[in-house]
Amino acid sequence: MIVFDLECLNGHTFEGWFEDKEDLEKQQEQGILACPVCETTSVVQKLHPIAIKKSSSNMTQRALQASQEAMAELTEKVAEYVEKNFENVGSDFTKQALKMHYGAEDYRNIKGTTTKEEDKVLAKEGVPVFKVPVIKNPKDDLN
Ligand SMILES: [Zn+2]
Repeated sequence: MIVFDLECLNGHTFEGWFEDKEDLEKQQEQGILACPVCETTSVVQKLHPIAIKKSSSNMTQRALQASQEAMAELTEKVAEYVEKNFENVGSDFTKQALKMHYGAEDYRNIKGTTTKEEDKVLAKEGVPVFKVPVIKNPKDDLN
């Protein structure tokens, strides 16, 4: 038995078990293969996302590289902005954010760390929090 990822005419995706590829094709032809959601028999094997081969062409290679560089630069800028404009409150972040949320303290830009549990609390209380990737300071590695 093998499993195939299938997709119907209406974009529903599901899995089907078959003896082999021929069995799948036979069921398609006979119209007994139907989408479990909308019951259409227009079902095809789902195409997997296209992988880009590294050596495909110079153009693709360059485009990929350019977008990676732009991404890295953007992340760096965000990190730099946060570094300069946000007060580091460390693990106090959740407490401070909640205080501001309930007006106990004035709004200001803060950054800090949260645990998974704290993330849940913040989400439950509806506190908007942005997570930015942290660029590791090379100095941190020295100790
Ligand atoms: Zn469907």
